[in-house]
Amino acid sequence: MMTRVFFVLSVVLTATFCLAQTSASSEGVPKEIPSFDVTAIDKTADPCADFYQYACGTWMKNNPVPGDKARWGRFDELYERNLYILRDLLNEAKAPGKHAATETMVGAYYGSCMDESTIEKKGTAPLAPELERIHGIKTKADLIRQVAYMHRNSTPALFAFYPQPDLHDSMATIAVLDQGGITLPDRDYYLKDDAKSVETRQKYVEHLQKMFELAGDKAEVAAAEAKTVLTVETGLAQSSMDRTVRRDPKTRDHKMTVAEIAGAAPNFDLAVYFADNGSPKFTSLNVGNPDFFKQVNEQLNSVALDDWKVYLRWKTINDYATTLTKAFVEEDFLFNGKYMSGQQEMEPRWKRCVKATDANLGMALGKLYVDRTFGADGKERTLKLVQAIESAMRQDVGELTWMSDTTKKKAYEKLDAIVNNIGYPDTWRDYSSVVVKADDYAGNAVRAGAFEVQRQYKKIDRPTDRKDWGMTPPTVNAYYRPPMNDINFPAGILQPPFYGKLMDDAVNFGGIGVVIGHELTHGFDDQGRKYDAEGNLRDWWTADDGKEFEQRADCTAKEYSGFVSVKDDKGEVKLNGKLTLGENTADNGGLKLAYMALTSIIGNTPAKPIDGYTAAQRFFLSYGQIWCQNVTDQEARKRVLTDPHSPGRWRVNGAVQNSAAFQQAFGCTAGQPMVAANACRVW
Ligand SMILES: [Zn+2]
Repeated sequence: MMTRVFFVLSVVLTATFCLAQTSASSEGVPKEIPSFDVTAIDKTADPCADFYQYACGTWMKNNPVPGDKARWGRFDELYERNLYILRDLLNEAKAPGKHAATETMVGAYYGSCMDESTIEKKGTAPLAPELERIHGIKTKADLIRQVAYMHRNSTPALFAFYPQPDLHDSMATIAVLDQGGITLPDRDYYLKDDAKSVETRQKYVEHLQKMFELAGDKAEVAAAEAKTVLTVETGLAQSSMDRTVRRDPKTRDHKMTVAEIAGAAPNFDLAVYFADNGSPKFTSLNVGNPDFFKQVNEQLNSVALDDWKVYLRWKTINDYATTLTKAFVEEDFLFNGKYMSGQQEMEPRWKRCVKATDANLGMALGKLYVDRTFGADGKERTLKLVQAIESAMRQDVGELTWMSDTTKKKAYEKLDAIVNNIGYPDTWRDYSSVVVKADDYAGNAVRAGAFEVQRQYKKIDRPTDRKDWGMTPPTVNAYYRPPMNDINFPAGILQPPFYGKLMDDAVNFGGIGVVIGHELTHGFDDQGRKYDAEGNLRDWWTADDGKEFEQRADCTAKEYSGFVSVKDDKGEVKLNGKLTLGENTADNGGLKLAYMALTSIIGNTPAKPIDGYTAAQRFFLSYGQIWCQNVTDQEARKRVLTDPHSPGRWRVNGAVQNSAAFQQAFGCTAGQPMVAANACRVW
């Protein structure tokens, strides 16, 4: 599902509005995060020289990245706090007593994860039957059946298969076949020749060898297997499309019949795959990257069957790793956490288990979370803010001098059609068919994964389910979905520091207001603008207006390409302005829209300053402080390659240096760093 999120965190959860719980079990829950934090400010810095340093300098000095994290920001503080609240809920759910069925289920899931002694006793037993299956593969047809089996159990391998609204008929959901199969976070890790990339591959091979040894293979066998996996995955990477190119949805738009794609890549035996993967029967689908299938088709022949079996062994071991013994979990951490992200130590077990429960049974845990934390007036309150930002966007479009009335009319139609989803879904997901056993953590993870795969596959060739949420309610994040034309705000983000009931409007609009404006702008960024009001990939722009847009987007792409993300002993890395274009457009647009909405509410007459700051200053400081963060160099490097979002420093300084309202608020003048000589503005 294509979603444009406010920021990327693989798992993100959060805290509460009212914190009514007083039970003794709410042990150690950190206190609420302040919305506007005067103590975070570095008053020795000049806001016109480096606004990020001004808004966050003292916070950054006092909040180094904790040992068990790769990045630490105010988002993460909120998320961390939420982990404590979710732990309380889970401990209550697993304690003896009368519970609703879903409560018992999440409690048992969490409990099975916490039961390390049972996990140790089982050793590699959960893995054994899976590896036995792979050992039994005798033909290429067996191979593809095994891939189908693994996909049914949500184990990634070779390529990807999932449902998605038809790009040209968003009311219907169809099957999608796409590139996949690599393990490192991006194809560039396999293809680039710089010193850092070469080192990463060497460390990866060492990691592969250790994991094969843990699974029971002799050292010399494991060493050979490790090299085989790297070779196979490098082939898959070479056939994969670049992440930045894929941003254009047209590069992923290839509807064809099953017979067509099966004929174009016969070695895949796709007919066998579709018959075996548990999806309903269908006759046409979208193929995200047909060239991937044509090229890997050759690889399927040229690579020996035994080598493919080694690759599938690895994908299975890797998928199970975090559910197995301490030895597996630690080796997985040493590579993925420590080497790849610069995390110094593992998070305590309970935090990992809370996250795993949210990831696998998140809509059941989310219900408990909403019941406890999200006030009945939460939806109402947020809707008012959303409406204020939406009318700012309408005004903004109206005032554009470069857009014709013809295109403006279509833009209004799209804006009017946007659906607002707030807090949590209307109906709660039914997990009753998932079997959760107190003493079988690995099995629970597989069964929950298989349930989700089935739930997704059921969408194929059916009317699009626009009510299905892409994030769990405790998530501290938000998203826009182009095919649905909807903006979504989970309960987790609707609280301080984003929104405080007692905070002044300036602070709330600089926080949640910008988030809302950001998601709204996604509907009109370099990707979103290609979809119409119904979510179909259809050009609704006049040719001239399209050109005007591209020019402005290009300005933003070039501007952000000049920003440095990390500078260390391994060199300097700049942002990829094209990869981050949509997010940067949304940040700039969101900041503008939220400020417009704020002034329409409080007017331009200066209110009495609070904490020594005017309303306008508080608005921009609130925005800046959302993004206070520290990050390890390793994590920053990884994100430049994989994350479509800019790092906190540039989400703030990049947007404010383009903002006349900001410059006015702080009295910045031409020639100062926070006044861009060629300010870029799309919306
Ligand atoms: Zn976004």
